[in-house]
Amino acid sequence: MFCLILKKRVLVLSIVGLLLAVGILAGVLAVKSVYSPKPTYTIVIDAGHGGEDGGAVGKTTNVKESYLNLQYALCLQKMCSDFGINVVMTRSDMNGLYSNAAKNKKKSEMKKREEIIKKANADMVISIHMNSFPLRSSKGAQVFYGKGNKSGQFLAESVTSMLSQNMDNARESAKVGDYYILNCTKKPAILVECGFLSNPEEEKLLQSEEYIHSMCYSIMCGILMYYEV
Ligand SMILES: [Zn+2]
Repeated sequence: MFCLILKKRVLVLSIVGLLLAVGILAGVLAVKSVYSPKPTYTIVIDAGHGGEDGGAVGKTTNVKESYLNLQYALCLQKMCSDFGINVVMTRSDMNGLYSNAAKNKKKSEMKKREEIIKKANADMVISIHMNSFPLRSSKGAQVFYGKGNKSGQFLAESVTSMLSQNMDNARESAKVGDYYILNCTKKPAILVECGFLSNPEEEKLLQSEEYIHSMCYSIMCGILMYYEV
């Protein structure tokens, strides 16, 4: 008899335990639905130039812009992916995006970049470049956006404010830039000139791991600020 009562008690306790577990699980799920995971954004990271088109070249070290653009793009890709952002790259190696048969290779590669942006259904485009100017004293990192693209301007301002916080050489304001990559989409798109390869000091700086990391970190913070994450 005692054994039967004990068994009943165990059964009652088991049911109470099960109900409690279900209750806790329901509570956890309810909390999760309130704090739903952040939506997944797709951003296109565009490393400028590539292949025969090396872009600007550093006078002291002969480093090619196309190579540096790729290093920054890969670093930014890793940071954004680690944060759960879906990243599509226009290029992940040193090859050009143009068709070898194309008469106008520049036009062919820009069309290819546009195609990748459209195919990815990108929520945002970040193009990476290094600046160059005949006046060797010109320096600083600067962000450009397409004329009339309000969301692009807002993104450019977000990234600029993060660059200003983290980098000594950041230019104070974002600027309108007439670039194909910015004009080919209505989505927020920016072109980041990370610094001047024509400036001997910045040529060295642009190749340092620390600078690359700080620059990409600032760009990512600007992206997150734009999305209010
Ligand atoms: Zn360039």
